[in-house]
Amino acid sequence: LSATLDEAWAKMKGVADLSPENIKAPLKDVRRALLEADVSLPVVRRFIKKVEERAPGVKVTKGVEPSQELVKLVADELCTLMGGVGADGINFREEGNGPTVILMAGLQGVGKTTACGKLALSLKKQNKTCLLVATDVYRPAAIDQLKKLGSDLNVPVYDEGANASPPSIAANGVAEAKKRGDIDVVIVDTAGRLNIDEALMNELIATKMSTQADETLLVVDAMTGQEAATLTKSFADAIDITGAILTKLDGDTRGGAALSVREVSGKPIKFTGVGEKMDALDPFYPERMTSRILGMGDVVSFVEKAQEAVKQADAEQMKEKIMKATFDFDDFLKNMDMMGDMGSMSQLMKMIPGANKLSDKDMQEAEKSFKIAKSLIMSMTPEERKYPDMLVASSTAESRRNRIVKGAGKTEEDLAELIVMFGGMRVKMQQMSAAMGSEAAKLGLQ
Ligand code: GDP
Ligand code: MG
Repeated sequence: LSATLDEAWAKMKGVADLSPENIKAPLKDVRRALLEADVSLPVVRRFIKKVEERAPGVKVTKGVEPSQELVKLVADELCTLMGGVGADGINFREEGNGPTVILMAGLQGVGKTTACGKLALSLKKQNKTCLLVATDVYRPAAIDQLKKLGSDLNVPVYDEGANASPPSIAANGVAEAKKRGDIDVVIVDTAGRLNIDEALMNELIATKMSTQADETLLVVDAMTGQEAATLTKSFADAIDITGAILTKLDGDTRGGAALSVREVSGKPIKFTGVGEKMDALDPFYPERMTSRILGMGDVVSFVEKAQEAVKQADAEQMKEKIMKATFDFDDFLKNMDMMGDMGSMSQLMKMIPGANKLSDKDMQEAEKSFKIAKSLIMSMTPEERKYPDMLVASSTAESRRNRIVKGAGKTEEDLAELIVMFGGMRVKMQQMSAAMGSEAAKLGLQ
């Protein structure tokens, strides 16, 4: 019964928390959506488990169903999981350390050679000069394919035909780039196989070593679906990839492979292939990928709007208070108590940008003067707190001040300091109120 009452109460207040019970059904939908998007099963399981741990206790936004709040939480989690710091771009070698070397790895037909060309074009647009290196000696057509791309893009291609070993061709390619001196980036195209095998991995390891590659990018066909997880694991374990390129996203796949690749390898997806043409290379956008994989975009944007509205309402309330400019000693006290709640003054100051320039001594001083202020205010009458002017501009001002100082066990100077501090704060409040008024007017809020 009490649980039911709690729930009824929560409903009346319009605020509930996510709980193990109310996330059960919507999580099933999420699970289904992820599987339909071809995220691999173990990845889905781990992800759902994480959400099950995280969700309970999360506040449900006013006007939003718990199930909708959960979907938004899931979308945020997905986005975080697939994004992360430094998620995109190539890590270039520092100037003077020779060309940056990028190795393309992956199974046959996934789009490695195409990605080499696309990347070269994209780098060229950033005013970087590239050298492409052809090491796919198993398919003569592959070397021609890269040479053709190079001549179309006007990017030099290094090759030794089909009779040398890939690690040595690659090393010679890097040496050539160094010799030329005008190459910023060497992109090494490699051979793929239909299946992961030891020969392929060993060759990649040797090539990576012979070139001292800075980036080893795993090229994954988005249509690989469920298989993407095991595939990624094999490559990541064997050659320690630095990132991935997800190709063929122009197809109608939901892109679950993106989540699998990221979750299994822990490495960012740096680019996406979105077509056969050379300019069809995009950066990876975690938000877009999230809505592609999860769907439910309408729910997510509904919850976002509701969250925005609640934030707005809070801000409006605050604005009203400030606009009224009825800031008195009670508010002053409340303010200080709020600071007290958040830990000591010095802790708080550390969080304020700019304020961290204050020395520990400064902060101790500030803390001390706030303590004094507090005890002075405590010994004011409610009337005096409400009408601070009574302490300066009335016939009884002096006797009031004497009483307060005595009651608090402080000095006249202490009280004078408080009155000055308070006056300064009040002026600041009024300035803020005026500023907010004009801001609001600009936004048409008034
Ligand atoms: P590799 O064997 O890994 O080098 O694969 P290729 O680069 O030769 O590409 C194999 C096929 O996939 C070619 O027909 C490419 O045009 C095509 N391809 C590569 N990337 C994309 C892409 O992002 N979208 C589409 N639709 N096709 C692609
Ligand atoms: Mg190829």
